[in-house]
Amino acid sequence: MPPTDHVIELRNVSKYYRNGREQLAAVDNVSLSVRRGELLAIVGPSGSGKTTLTHIIGGLIKPNQGSVVVNGKKLNEQSDRKLARYRNREVGFVFQSFSLLPQYTALENVAVPLVLARIRPRKRKALATHYLGLVGLEQQASQRATALSGGQRQRVAIARALALQPQLIIADEPTGSLDSARGNEIMRILEQLSKQGITVLLVTHDLDLAARADRIVHIRDGQLAEGPA
Ligand code: ADP
Repeated sequence: MPPTDHVIELRNVSKYYRNGREQLAAVDNVSLSVRRGELLAIVGPSGSGKTTLTHIIGGLIKPNQGSVVVNGKKLNEQSDRKLARYRNREVGFVFQSFSLLPQYTALENVAVPLVLARIRPRKRKALATHYLGLVGLEQQASQRATALSGGQRQRVAIARALALQPQLIIADEPTGSLDSARGNEIMRILEQLSKQGITVLLVTHDLDLAARADRIVHIRDGQLAEGPA
C-alpha cells in the first residue's frame, strides 16, 4: 500500500439494527478518510447515525460490513481483547454527560485510565497533573468533581481522555450542556490538540462550532455528505 497520512480509513461501512421486521441502516455504506491532526466535525440531526459512526471508529461497535482501519490497525480483524486495548489506549472519549466519578477529585478522575493501565502512582500523579494543567485546572486538582462547574467538569473529562496520550479524541457533543463562553473554551482546547497532531472527531449540533473545524461531514439517514456548515 502507498504511504498515507490518513489515520482513519473507512470503506463501505454499514451497521444495521433490526427493528421488529424492519432492518435499519444506522450507518449506510460510509467511506471516510481522516488525516492525522485533522479536526473533523460530524453534524446531523438526532438519529442520523453520528453516535453509531463514532462508536465504530472508537471500537465500541462492530460494523456488519466494510473495513475500518485506524492507526494502521484493521479494527474488524482485532480480537475482543485487542479491541478493548485499542479503546483504552488509543482513543480518548469525551461525552456530554462528563461521566466523572463524583466523589473523586479532579486529579483522581484524570488518573482513572492510568490506574486501569497500571501506571505507577508517582508517574500517574505527574501525568494527571500535567493534563489538568493543560486544560487550565491545576488549581482545582484536589476539588471533588461535585464541586466543579459544568465547564470545569468537561475540562476534567478532556484531561482524562488525554491521560494515556491517545492519537484520536472522539468528542460527542462536548459543549452541549455548556454556555457559549464555556463551549468556546472547550473548542479552543480541541483546536489546540488538533494543531499538536491529535486527530479530533467532534460530533456537534452547533454549526458555529462546526464551522471552526478543518472539515465538516454531514450525516443523514446513515449516509455521509461533505460540505460547508
Ligand atoms: P445520532 O447519534 O445521530 O442521534 P444514532 O447513531 O444514535 O444517531 O442512531 C442512528 C439510528 O440507529 C437511530 O435510528 C437509532 O434509533 C438506531 N439505533 C442506534 N443504536 C441502536 C441500537 N442499539 N438498537 C437499535 N437501534 C439503534
